[in-house]
Amino acid sequence: MATNHELRLYNSLGRRMEDFVPAAEVTGMYTCGPTVYAYPHLGNMRAYVFADTLRRALRWKDIPVRHVVNITDVGHAVADTNLGEDKLEVAAARERRSVMDIAAYYTDVFLVDCAALNILPAVEYPRATAYVEQMIEFTKKLVRDGWTYQLPSGLYFDTAKDPGYGELAQMKAEGQLEAARLEYVEGRRRKTDFVLWRTEEPGQRRVLRWDSPWGWGAPGWHLECSVMSMALLGQHFDLHTGGVDHRELHHVNEIAQSQAFLGDGLPWVRHWEHVEFLQLGAEKMAKSAGGAPRLADLTEAGYHPMAYRLFLLGGHYRSQLDFTTAAIDAAQATLRRLVTRIQPLRPLPPVPTLAEARQRTEDDPAAQRLLDTIDAAASADLGTPRILAALQDALREPALTPDGLRAVVAAADALLGLGLASFDPADLEQRRALTDLSAAERQAIEELVADRTQARKERDWARADQIRAHLDELGIELTDTPEGPVWQLR
Ligand SMILES: [Zn+2]
Repeated sequence: MATNHELRLYNSLGRRMEDFVPAAEVTGMYTCGPTVYAYPHLGNMRAYVFADTLRRALRWKDIPVRHVVNITDVGHAVADTNLGEDKLEVAAARERRSVMDIAAYYTDVFLVDCAALNILPAVEYPRATAYVEQMIEFTKKLVRDGWTYQLPSGLYFDTAKDPGYGELAQMKAEGQLEAARLEYVEGRRRKTDFVLWRTEEPGQRRVLRWDSPWGWGAPGWHLECSVMSMALLGQHFDLHTGGVDHRELHHVNEIAQSQAFLGDGLPWVRHWEHVEFLQLGAEKMAKSAGGAPRLADLTEAGYHPMAYRLFLLGGHYRSQLDFTTAAIDAAQATLRRLVTRIQPLRPLPPVPTLAEARQRTEDDPAAQRLLDTIDAAASADLGTPRILAALQDALREPALTPDGLRAVVAAADALLGLGLASFDPADLEQRRALTDLSAAERQAIEELVADRTQARKERDWARADQIRAHLDELGIELTDTPEGPVWQLR
């Protein structure tokens, strides 16, 4: 009988591989989510596919997870100071819509993209605007404990008081790494000091504003993640994920303020997982002039969302990936081969965990061997390229019994999340039946349709047209009838 491999993950805190041993019965996992003022692009979505891969590996190991992804619906300044513009409010001015409308619209768009990429839904998607009172309470404690100082532009965290500041980013000296990115702030003691509460300047009146002991204004960006994660996962939890850019600043500041708040001398979160960048290279997609390509650009060009997921999984999450037309073409071709080869094997059994996969293949040594390879790959810091290779090997392995092959394919896909159990080759022909939509996709579309109906009721034709255009990009045909709008897939 094969032995199980320990799940080993690369921890950004300390930059080393470590066994992942859950501290609690249910593993708390927090992923820094989108700021909902614009369409998420392909690079943004890599972070959520990565978090999903981690979740699937935990499920494979029978480790229960409680996953939280925040929605930043109060804009944060570009450079983490009081000087940058609030992205949400800039977007609102540009599109002449209310800030909350914009946030609701782009939250829906984000969730539609997540569903299209077969990302398991989080248990909660907390909105920052719903936690401002708790952020104020959190900050009051930091003030009481002497971690802050006030300037006319806001309340700042005093990083000089934290000898461990910057450990995650491995900053050598004060602010060395990120200082170049930070703007000058009048009176700030150190370049690394960051804003906890942005106070309105005289004459400035934000659309989203709250009263606080430090004046009317809005919370600093880092604050929301500390407050919402502790509120929903407890003061200490196991896993925090995000893009590698967060490792250098946002997560550094989350740690500083959280450990100052807790004051128990313990690390706030033990494991920090960061996913590398997606490089767009020279081949920008023409459709998105002025911006990075989105998932909708890919589907419009005839690629299936799962081709993008497959492209991502073909590289390791800690490697930079070059997104090129050739690469996405190759992924779509591989997907087509996999789907065509697997279709006659259906129905596939549900095999979400290693234990179940082993049970189903007890008398098939070839299947056991392949499962061992898959488990070793998943356990070695989420080696998705090797899981994909094992899946391809299984499809060529003559020694497998038909049921063994089914179990191995289902097991590999439980980790990869390509939806192979229900994937119809016709899906790749850009035509999908309504029954192919997941419940989450369906719900997200219903929400977009409802938002459009609301916009029409408010005679906000520009917004209604924009939602219609987005639905159109998603391949949804909308017809207005006397009974209300009816939609179908093209
Ligand atoms: Zn965050």
